[in-house]
Amino acid sequence: MTIEHETHVSKVTLMEKITSEIKACHKCALWKKRQNAVPGEGNLNALVMFIGEAPGYYEDIKGRPFVGAAGKLLDELLSSIWLSRKEVFIGNVLKCRPPENREPLANETETCTPYLNRQIKLIKPKIIVTLGRHSTSYIFSKVGLKNEGITKLRGKIYKINLFGFQISLIPTYHPAAALYNVRYKDELERDFQLLRNELQKHRCS
Ligand code: URA
Repeated sequence: MTIEHETHVSKVTLMEKITSEIKACHKCALWKKRQNAVPGEGNLNALVMFIGEAPGYYEDIKGRPFVGAAGKLLDELLSSIWLSRKEVFIGNVLKCRPPENREPLANETETCTPYLNRQIKLIKPKIIVTLGRHSTSYIFSKVGLKNEGITKLRGKIYKINLFGFQISLIPTYHPAAALYNVRYKDELERDFQLLRNELQKHRCS
């Protein structure tokens, strides 16, 4: 076995452990109403990690992230820059659906994000794209950056040090917001072009 192969095998094992802990999690009250926890999925060697807010109706049924209408738009945005789900990792701040899709509560975020942190440390992405204000505000607070709201923050790349490694952070709108407002969709598309350029740099380095 090569070192690369060995590293990948241990990454798979570690991610499986995180995933099974999430599926059995009873740390906050959200487990009581869930059909399935949604641990996140994708490439464990991904250069890019997307972080959404929390599973919705369809994600809860399927146990997979972004499989509803917002997910369809995310797939379109990915393919607009020649990326596929197989190349990236997609996760959420919360791993269980809040009732009626209400916003995550502070205590839920606090209880659940250790899972996300472990996923980030394991994958070590070069780029994190935060989809919407919840994941943006979570990562901003983690690195001590001032949260001025997604409208002001988006459209730029932030070089951050997260858990000891350098990451290009690209905050953007949540795809669900763009389903109802064309302006958000245009800006999301622009942010994906930023992502494309940034990805190109990392692929060449
Ligand atoms: N919205 C999110 O934030 N995450 C999902 O997985 C689906 C919809």
